[in-house]
Amino acid sequence: MPTENAKLLIVDDTALVRALLSAILARSGYTVRSAEDGFSALAAIRRQVPDLILSDLYMPGMSGFELLSVVRRRFPAIPLIAMSSAFSGASVPPGVAADAFYEKGTAVSYLLDMLEALIHSERMPAIEHSSAPAPIWIPGNGHNPAGGPCVTIACPECLRTFPQSLNEDARSIHETDCVFCRALIHFAIVELADSALPLEKKQPAAGRP
Ligand SMILES: [Zn+2]
Repeated sequence: MPTENAKLLIVDDTALVRALLSAILARSGYTVRSAEDGFSALAAIRRQVPDLILSDLYMPGMSGFELLSVVRRRFPAIPLIAMSSAFSGASVPPGVAADAFYEKGTAVSYLLDMLEALIHSERMPAIEHSSAPAPIWIPGNGHNPAGGPCVTIACPECLRTFPQSLNEDARSIHETDCVFCRALIHFAIVELADSALPLEKKQPAAGRP
């Protein structure tokens, strides 16, 4: 039975995917909003916290890897579904902060079942994390105006984003204070070099004229 107007947020950089999923899920009784990348998703979450988030992984701007890690830290009770065509199977790809994984292109009924199960489950807030919470994923591919390495940090407390220059090149964990709310943020630089990105999004969707 469709859920009592649970509020979903769909995050995908492909307008066609957003439109299709929005239509299908609205017809299934959900209240649906959508966002085109992690940045606009955070803005949407600041306006209204959804009951569940369904996010693509590879998106320009802020990826789903980052978005999900930030949301998990800030709202550990919100169920998260990652989706992609870059991974196959039903298990959540390693390192992705999500409760379930939907392989794009497989039957939408899988996704609907997943949504129902997650929305009706009593999620335990993540109490297992110890004193040091997992760091946020940040792709280390930006540059500041002076040409130095720079990353965009998403604050898991206030959900705002700001640029952060790096003075050392390391894959280690860094710390900074949020420029808006002063929260201490731990972050780790991960390599999401362009060459490593599967070009899943650049292929025209099947069935397009
Ligand atoms: Zn903040």
